[in-house]
This record gives sequence, C-alpha cells and structure tokens, in this order.
Amino acid sequence: MESQRKHPRAFSFEFFPPKTPEGMEKLRATWKQLAQLKPRFFSCTYGAGGSTRDRTLETVLEIQSAGHRAAPHISCIGATRADLAATLELYRAEGVDHVVALRGDLPSGAASAGELRYANELVAFIREKTGGHFHVEVACYPEFHPQAKSPRDDLASFRRKLDAGADSAITQYFFNADAYFRFVDDCEAIGIAAAIVPGIMPIGNFSQLARFSDNCGADIPRWLRLKMQGFGDDTASIRSLGLDVVTELCDRLLSGGAPGLHFYTMNQAGLTSTIWQRLGI
Ligand code: FAD
Repeated sequence: MESQRKHPRAFSFEFFPPKTPEGMEKLRATWKQLAQLKPRFFSCTYGAGGSTRDRTLETVLEIQSAGHRAAPHISCIGATRADLAATLELYRAEGVDHVVALRGDLPSGAASAGELRYANELVAFIREKTGGHFHVEVACYPEFHPQAKSPRDDLASFRRKLDAGADSAITQYFFNADAYFRFVDDCEAIGIAAAIVPGIMPIGNFSQLARFSDNCGADIPRWLRLKMQGFGDDTASIRSLGLDVVTELCDRLLSGGAPGLHFYTMNQAGLTSTIWQRLGI
C-alpha cells in the first residue's frame, strides 16, 4: 500500500444524469447537500454511444457553475472518433478539465461496437486530441472485470490505460477489503503507482444491488447476501446493516492506506452522508 499512502486523500461523489425535470430537481438537492462535505469532485455517468451526452454535460455544468469541480464520464463503445472528438471539444470549451474515460457496455440489440475497442485506446485518443488538458481517470477492478480472460490479463489491461496517459483510477465497487489490498499489491508489483481510489456502493435497495452485482462481477459475501435476503421487504433493517457493513469497509480501506473514496451515490445524499459522518472524515 506504500504507493497509495503517497497520494493526498481525495473524496468524490458520482451521479447519473436524470431523465426528467423532477429527477434533475431531486439531484440538485442531492449535490447541494453533498457539496457541504467538500468533495474533491463530483462525476456524472455517460450512456453508451453518447446517449446521455447532453444530460451528462448539463449536470456537470450546473455543478461547475456553483463553484465545484465536476467530471463527466465519457465512453467509447458505439462511438466514432468524430463523435468522441466533438464531445471532448465540447467539454473543453465549457471549461471542464477532468474526465472519467471508459469503454462502456453495449446495450443489448445495439449494432455497432464503435471505432475504439478498449478504454486504453480512448485514453490514447484523449491525449492525442487534447494533450494534457484533462485529468483522466480510468476504471479498474479489484475483483476483476467479468469479461477479462484472467486476473493477470485484467491487470495488464489496467496498466495499458495508465501507459496510454491516464492519471488515476477509480475501482468498481466491492465489499471485500482484502480484494482491494491485494489488487494494489499486484499493481505495485508491476510498477503501478497511480492513485487507485476505492469505489463505494452504499446499500439501499438490496435486490437491485444483487442484480447489478451479478452483472458487473462484484462479489457480495455469502453471509451478507443471505442476511439481506432474509430481511425481505424490511428496508429499515437492510439500510441499517448496509450502513454498518459499508462504514466498516470504508474505515478499513482508509486506515489501510486508500487514497480516498469515490461514492456511487445513486443520486441520493442520505446513505453517503451518514457513512461520511460515521467515519468522521
Ligand atoms: P476496458 O478497460 O476497455 O476493459 C474492458 C474489458 O476488456 C476488461 O475485461 C479488460 O480486461 C478487457 N481488455 C482491455 N483491453 C483489452 C485488449 N487489448 N485485449 C483483450 N481484452 C482487453 N459505464 C458506462 O457505460 N458509463 C459510465 O459512465 C460508467 N462509469 C463507470 C465508472 C467507474 C468508476 C467504473 C468502475 C465503471 C463504469 N462504467 C461505466 C462501467 C464500465 O464501462 C464497464 O465496466 C465496462 O464493461 C468496462 O469499461 P472499462 O473502461 O473498464 O473497459
């Protein structure tokens, strides 16, 4: 963990772009509440093929115009080089200087994978078109990406993104702290020293989380899954155990040397703020 202790601690909050004016209004209240915690930045996700480009940008600009740092995500799947260049130009013209660069996932039924196949190609493209303008974050996977041929291949993919010019990384969420510590050790062993900030998923709706975790390869420990399933519709018990488990996870990560935390807020302030208060950050 030596490589990670050298980085200043940074906390960030992720949103998705709302589809409706009501959703936007709710998100406005959420980011205003979370802004009081003074995160390093907020980020906003991006739909495959640029499907949310305008809403992602709108969300980022609104947060930015209130004086906070905000980073749009950008994904290359289903996109042409021309689309990506135009999006980057738009971000740059609006004064954005921080992006999260991803491959993305193709929605079922979508026709074309796009012109860039993997996120390392997107990072190289960003550097080719915009030089050092953007701070570029990439994704990495302590429990390994579900499509990776092997843990070793996945680590090599992560390294390719950093070699292509990415500055730092945010992990997929996980509930096993040891997976993160071992992943960082493996990264250090191949010379990776960039900040690897753990992605944290507060637990609100367990059945939704279980579905999502099965798709993205995040392991829910058996004891936790069974206890949560046993609560059925008792949302108060789910939230209470979720808060205990996730707070303890964050505490272990920070005391073990993690250089901050990135919260997948699901556009809600409540759980994230409670974890934050319990951690005494
Ligand atoms: P890559 O780094 O390209 O890796 C994808 C897979 O391909 C991995 O299995 C990797 O090992 C493998 N691979 C990489 N290079 C090669 C190669 N040369 N040859 C063979 N295999 C290779 N999705 C969205 O659509 N929008 C978002 O806004 C979004 N935000 C995210 C934010 C974070 C912090 C994280 C962790 C994920 C996010 N995702 C988002 C999900 C992400 O797009 C998916 O996990 C996607 O499947 C992989 O994206 P990636 O950038 O990690 O891809």
